Amino acid sequence: MEEPVPISAIQHYAYCPRQYALIHIEQIWEDNLYTLRGHRAHAQVHTPEGMAREGMRVEYGLPLWSDQLGLVGQADVVEFLEDTPYPVEHKVGERRARHADTLQLTAQGLCLEEMFSVPVRKGALYYRQSRRRREVTFTPALRAEVMEVLQAIRTLQAHPALPPPVNDARCKDCSLVAACLPQARDRLEGLT
Ligand code: SF4
Repeated sequence: MEEPVPISAIQHYAYCPRQYALIHIEQIWEDNLYTLRGHRAHAQVHTPEGMAREGMRVEYGLPLWSDQLGLVGQADVVEFLEDTPYPVEHKVGERRARHADTLQLTAQGLCLEEMFSVPVRKGALYYRQSRRRREVTFTPALRAEVMEVLQAIRTLQAHPALPPPVNDARCKDCSLVAACLPQARDRLEGLT
């Protein structure tokens, strides 16, 4: 049986395949301001003071898995609306659409469907700085995209290699920029 893939790997690969490989294959991790804020935010979420809404069951730090897909992870928050799970993933910063975060949340929804044997059609990303939610509908297209990323991860696991750097606006927020040296490839290509 294949090793389960962490749900966080879906987010990392979707953000940048090289980031995924540096973290999950080469085991490199560097914190920056964004990741440190993220750790703090997640730690606070898993301390449930004052977070439950009246009349609604809420689980914090719920372990997630899908045997069918080979996924494991942990949900920041899962609200239960009449026994239907509704994952809420906390993010630092302002409300902004980052597709990698959307796919991470969709993967959580897929796990919850299998765990509770009910359709899970929606979830939300919660942005701590702006205190706003962005609701995500788990469309067939998003579900298919999670499967594509999962397949790409499995392919990279079977044939480990370091994908080329994207060297674009994503690198500005990436904690691995010092280990990755995304501009080096462009400089090298300029020499050939
Ligand atoms: S610095 Fe850029 S290319 Fe390198 S891992 Fe991060 S996002 Fe990817």
